[in-house]
Amino acid sequence: MRVPACERLCFLLGDQLNVQHEWFDHVEPDTLFVLAELYQEASYVRHHVQKVVAFFDAMAALAANLEAKGHRVLHLTLDDTAEFDDLPALLEHLISASGAGSLAYQRPDEYRLLEQMQDFAARAAVPVRCTGTRHFLVPFEALDSTFPTHKQQRMEHFYRRIRKQSGWLMDADGKPVGGKWNYDVENRKAMPADVQPPEPLLFENPVGDILERLERHQIQTIGSLSGTTSPWPRDRAQARELLRFFTDQLLPLFGAYQDALTDRGWALFHSRLSFALNSKILDPREVVEAVLAVWSAEPERYPLAAVEGFVRQLIGWREFMRGIYWTRMPEYAQSNALDARRPLPEFYWTGNTRMACMKQAIDQSLEHAYAHHIQRLMVTGNFALLAGVDPDAVDAWYLGIYIDAIEWVEMPNTRGMSQFADGGVIASKPYVSSGNYLKKMGDHCGGCFYDVKQRTGPKACPFNPLYWHFMNRHRERLGRNPRIGMIYRGWDRRSQEDRDAVLASAEQLLEQLDTL
Ligand code: FAD
Ligand code: SF4
Repeated sequence: MRVPACERLCFLLGDQLNVQHEWFDHVEPDTLFVLAELYQEASYVRHHVQKVVAFFDAMAALAANLEAKGHRVLHLTLDDTAEFDDLPALLEHLISASGAGSLAYQRPDEYRLLEQMQDFAARAAVPVRCTGTRHFLVPFEALDSTFPTHKQQRMEHFYRRIRKQSGWLMDADGKPVGGKWNYDVENRKAMPADVQPPEPLLFENPVGDILERLERHQIQTIGSLSGTTSPWPRDRAQARELLRFFTDQLLPLFGAYQDALTDRGWALFHSRLSFALNSKILDPREVVEAVLAVWSAEPERYPLAAVEGFVRQLIGWREFMRGIYWTRMPEYAQSNALDARRPLPEFYWTGNTRMACMKQAIDQSLEHAYAHHIQRLMVTGNFALLAGVDPDAVDAWYLGIYIDAIEWVEMPNTRGMSQFADGGVIASKPYVSSGNYLKKMGDHCGGCFYDVKQRTGPKACPFNPLYWHFMNRHRERLGRNPRIGMIYRGWDRRSQEDRDAVLASAEQLLEQLDTL
């Protein structure tokens, strides 16, 4: 590897691909920007092949873009970095080989990487400076005061605060536009048979060379990529095209069918912008502004419920998850409030299950590195929670399989919202359901081996007995929750015989989860 001489090194991680960062405002000939494909990042968990490829491809695109603007850039591939054990070893080499007098880095969004960089900075041979990424709405320095750990945190309060501060979707008199903060009740429809979502917008970015490198360096991946092109946006032009596709074709029905479960498409009316956002190719503010702009230009075409529902995800949930992550780490990564210990069933890795809803969610995750929120929460997440799967195993699956999975957002969603492993920091009650909810929201049950109406026996929908088993085994903790009491009263009204049969059926399933 040839390292050019420079006075200042600026190091960028693979999810710091914001070409509009102040670092790039002026060309400084003495500064060398470094982007590096790293074995440690490609292998700290088993990632989906599309995920590794999309990040590496977008890094190459940023390197080329910066060079075209006149910046000096060193773009290192796995071939260049293979000889270094980890990131600090590489940085040490870069400093000595370039003769740089200082190093700057953007603050990592993952605890693991921030620790690694801070350790390195403490013993580096030159001054090392950390700078913000400027990506999030809440500055890193304000996280502790915004999300104090001694107080119960609820997303809704935080979201309203951001709405007021930003003025987004607010009337001049300081009231929420339309008179309500939340239009969720209008956003929870199953998808009628005559609605067909458009084909997702996919790119065809050539990535044959990246695939060869993954093979050469024995990077273990999961899932598949069809051919040698990546469908995910590699730069701002493509990310903005995806954003336009969303506002033009998907946003009008985004809200209504946000929670729908169907095999009539794998992305439905969702934006698929999470990769472009989490890699920081796109800024959340510009996404919100784009959505608000089309809405105010054509309010009759864009229901307020769709617009508010989308904005809520982006400025509410996304920022809230980051706040919980940073104020609760590192303990959060160990949380297991329900003491769940079972291994993840094998079919999560293969899609080899007779449960039609699970098969759809897992198959499309393996094929496209994508499932929408309700598939993640109420299908695969719900099943893992009901089955008492160890949150470490659930975390590793979600962190690996999704195109947008970076720990700061993956972990609170998985451990907190989905697995209730944090004991209620994020969710006020566990997101669990029997087959009934899945039937109501989707069209999988009709073609399923299992019968959603049966509660016991070999053909019973597994979600049914497992739901009651979960409720029964966690009664002591959940029974105190006023939002759940009614469910227990219904359970208690059933005959002892009926309850025993349901629980015995669930026990059987738990013995043979892999075969479902
Ligand atoms: P859309 O439905 O179009 O929503 C728009 C945007 O809102 C998304 O791009 C995303 O940036 C944001 N958003 C929506 N919901 C959430 C949420 N709950 N938390 C944070 N941001 C949200 N999201 C990730 O970005 N990375 C993850 O690793 C991740 N893991 C998840 C794991 C589980 C178990 C669950 C239940 C959810 C997870 N989510 C994660 C949240 C959500 O499912 C994805 O953000 C969303 O499906 C991405 O697809 P989209 O871009 O089409 O989203
Ligand atoms: Fe899923 Fe149960 Fe419906 Fe089958 S019957 S699709 S397992 S909810």
